[in-house]
Amino acid sequence: MNITMPTDVSLILDVLHDHGYEAYAVGGCIRDSILGRKPDDWDITTSATPYQVKELFRRTVDTGLVHGTVTVMLDKTGYEVTTYRIDGEYEDGRHPKEVQFTSSLTEDLKRRDFTINAMAYSRETGLIDQFGGVEDLERKIIRCVGDPMLRFGEDALRMLRAVRFAAQLGFTVEENTRKAITELVSSLSKISSERIQVETVKLLVSPRPAMWKLAYETGITGVIMPEFDRLMETGAVDRKETSGASSGEQEESLGAYTLHSMEQVGRDKVLRLTMLFHKMGETGAGRIQEQEQMDQEGSQVAGKILRRLKFDNDTINQVTKLVLWHGYHLQPSPAQIRRGVHKVGENLFPLLLEVQRACILAGDPDVREGQLHRLEQVEEVYEEICRLHQCVSLKTLAVTGKDLIQAGVKPGPQMGKILEELLEKVLEEPEWNQKEKLLELVGENKGT
Ligand code: ATP
Ligand code: MG
Repeated sequence: MNITMPTDVSLILDVLHDHGYEAYAVGGCIRDSILGRKPDDWDITTSATPYQVKELFRRTVDTGLVHGTVTVMLDKTGYEVTTYRIDGEYEDGRHPKEVQFTSSLTEDLKRRDFTINAMAYSRETGLIDQFGGVEDLERKIIRCVGDPMLRFGEDALRMLRAVRFAAQLGFTVEENTRKAITELVSSLSKISSERIQVETVKLLVSPRPAMWKLAYETGITGVIMPEFDRLMETGAVDRKETSGASSGEQEESLGAYTLHSMEQVGRDKVLRLTMLFHKMGETGAGRIQEQEQMDQEGSQVAGKILRRLKFDNDTINQVTKLVLWHGYHLQPSPAQIRRGVHKVGENLFPLLLEVQRACILAGDPDVREGQLHRLEQVEEVYEEICRLHQCVSLKTLAVTGKDLIQAGVKPGPQMGKILEELLEKVLEEPEWNQKEKLLELVGENKGT
C-alpha cells in the first residue's frame, strides 16, 4: 500500500525518527488516502511525550497537553502530534477519567473507534493494519475495534460517529456494531450537546443526508432528537404537497419526505438543517391548523432543538427564519419579489429559493413542472433586481433618518414609520429611490 503524504508530514515524521522516536500518520488521513479521498487534515501519533515533541520543533501550540496533543506549526499549517496513549475508563460517557501514555503503537490503535480509523503509516514500516481496516474498507463496513458493547460503553458518542461515517463514506454499519448501538443507545443522553452537534452536522452535510434514517432506525434520534421520530410516525398531511403516491398506496410519512428533501439542497449546514426541520410544525394538531400557524410552530421547534444542541446564534437565526418562510408564496412580479426580499432579508432570500426548489423536487410530481416553472420565473425576476441594484431595504433607501431631521421631521418613533412608508413606495416603484423625490413626498404629507 503506497500512501502519499504531504511534505510537511514526512518532515515531522523524519525529525521524530531522527531523534529515536516512533512516529506515524494515523486515523482519518490514512483511511481517506486508501479510499482515494483527499484527507482534511493529517494527524500524527508518536512514542515521544508532548514535552519531547515540543523540544524538537520551533513553533508549537499546547493544544491538549494532558491528552498528549501538541500542534506543530509549519508555516501557517498546524499538525496535531499526539503521544501514544491508552484511554482510561470513561467516567460518565463523556471524558476518559485519565489518559495514560504508552510506548506501544498497538495500544494506541486499540483505543480508536473503528477499524477503518485504526490504521497507521510511515514510509519505513508501510501500512500498519492490525484490525482488518483495509478489509473493512473493501467490504464498505463500519466496525468497532474490539467488542462494540465495551467500546460504546466507554464513549457513547461513537454510536453517532458510526452512522456519520456510514453517511460520509456510503458504508453500512456491521451487524454486531449495529446491534450494540440499538442496545446501548440510551447512554447517548450523557454526551455533551457540543459533541453531538459536531457529528450531526457532519452527517447532515455529507453526500448522503438521508442516512439520518439509520440514526432513527437504531434509536439514536429517539435520544438526541425525538422530534424527528414524531415526523417518521406522522403520515403526510397534504398529499398534494408531500407525496406523489396514488390513492391506495401506503401513505408516505413526513419523515420520509423530509429525508428526501434534504437530498435536494446543496451540502450546506443551514440548508440541510432547514430541510430537516421544515415540517416539524405539522406533527401535532397540524391537520386542523392553518399552514402559517404550522410554519410558526415548526420554526419554534427548530429553535428549541438548535438551542438544545448549542448551535450558534447565527445558525439558529437563519434556520428558524427559513423554516418560518419556507412556504412563502412568491409570484414572479418584481414589486412582490422586492417585498419578499425585504421581508425575508437580503442574505436569506437566495437560500429561501433553494429551500423552495427542494420542497418542489421532493413533493408531488404531478404539480412539479408547473411549480418549477414559476420558481424559475421568480429567480429571473430576482436576478434582475440584483443586477439593477434595486433598493430592497432601508440600508439602500436614498433617504436616511438624518435627512428627515434636516428636512424638519422631529426625531421620534414617527420617523421610523415615515422611512418604512418611503421604502414601501420604493419597493413598489424603484424609480422613486431618489432623495429629492422622496423628501418632496415627505413634505407633501407633512402639509396634509
Ligand atoms: P474527519 O474526516 O471527520 O476528521 P477523522 O477520522 O479524522 O474524520 P476525527 O474526529 O478527526 O475523525 O478523529 C481522528 C481520529 O481519532 C479518528 O480517526 C479515530 O482514530 C480517533 N477518534 C476520534 N474520536 C474518537 C472517539 N470518540 N473514540 C475513539 N477514537 C476516536
Ligand atoms: Mg480528523
